[in-house]
Amino acid sequence: MSEERIGEYRREIDRINEKILRLLNKRAEITTRIGEIKESEGVEKFDPKRESEQFAKLTKLNRGPLSNEIIKKIFREIFRYSLSMMGEDQRKPMLVHRGDKSDTVVKVGNVEIGGGKSIIIAGPCAVENERQLDTIASFLRSLGVPIMRGGAFKPRTSPYAFQGLGIDGFRIMLDVCKRYDLLSISEVVDTHHVELAMEYIDILQIGARNMANFELLKLLGATRKPVLLKRGYMATLEEFVYAAEYIMSGGNPNLLLCERGIRTFERWTRNTLDISAVPILKQETHLPIFVDVSHSAGRKDIIPALARASLASGADGIMVEIHHNPPVALSDASQQLDFDQFQSLLKTIYPLCEDLS
Ligand code: PEP
Ligand code: MN
Repeated sequence: MSEERIGEYRREIDRINEKILRLLNKRAEITTRIGEIKESEGVEKFDPKRESEQFAKLTKLNRGPLSNEIIKKIFREIFRYSLSMMGEDQRKPMLVHRGDKSDTVVKVGNVEIGGGKSIIIAGPCAVENERQLDTIASFLRSLGVPIMRGGAFKPRTSPYAFQGLGIDGFRIMLDVCKRYDLLSISEVVDTHHVELAMEYIDILQIGARNMANFELLKLLGATRKPVLLKRGYMATLEEFVYAAEYIMSGGNPNLLLCERGIRTFERWTRNTLDISAVPILKQETHLPIFVDVSHSAGRKDIIPALARASLASGADGIMVEIHHNPPVALSDASQQLDFDQFQSLLKTIYPLCEDLS
């Protein structure tokens, strides 16, 4: 009796399978045609926006019993194979991609970065001397800011501009951060400095100009050292995400991304802060996302507004340049906040950072 019923259900399932098979092949034919058109027009075949729209529609239509998560998993596979039908190389799933992963939290010392907390990284553009850094570190300590930035190797447009103190800058960072129990972040520009930087610095920064320095990325990928990777000022988000993948695919999961403005025709700011990068990167990756509000703007007056916009759009933290006496700073004098300005900035962003004490 029950065997008969099971047999009937199975025949029904066979009929459904047949229909699914026919529909999948029909879908594949259509995506191949779309692929041909895109190919002839030189348009990128992978369209994450279209994919997100389809997910949204499907989950809205879904009445169960399959959960939205299961529906998404099934369709993600269908989309992946559609892309390969379009002639696009079948993509290896990217480690940095959001997928089903929850937010990555990177632990540096006692500080947890990511996962909904808002972190402030502040400090001078460049380490200039011990006294300068000590003054700034003591101020940051008094405000409870956990991470101090300071460039030792400064990639400057002009070879005649201050180039940073180099390794001595790393040493000063280490001494001063130890003194005030702060975590440090500083840029590495050359593969030869990585080993030393790992000894002296807590988070290694890869600057905008080196985002696509793949040898540097690979080298840092082979370590477990926390890395903050900045977006190149001429890089698309896709290129940025691939650069991040270089680090993560090497085995280093301790990765932070930082939007820092891109070059556009606009001249009233140094760069144009691409605020949409924040929600997109949060959606497309599982990594903590920072915004460098200083290099984005290149001017002080709009930093509080950019900081609020960044946090409101989902950034896990902001990076800001401060100096005890900005007019005499050896680099980026016009964009570094003085102590009063930094304190006012903190006041305006407190409501957006439940975590700041
Ligand atoms: C910096 O943070 O010191 C810096 C040089 O920034 P960017 O690489 O974003 O220009
Ligand atoms: Mn700077």
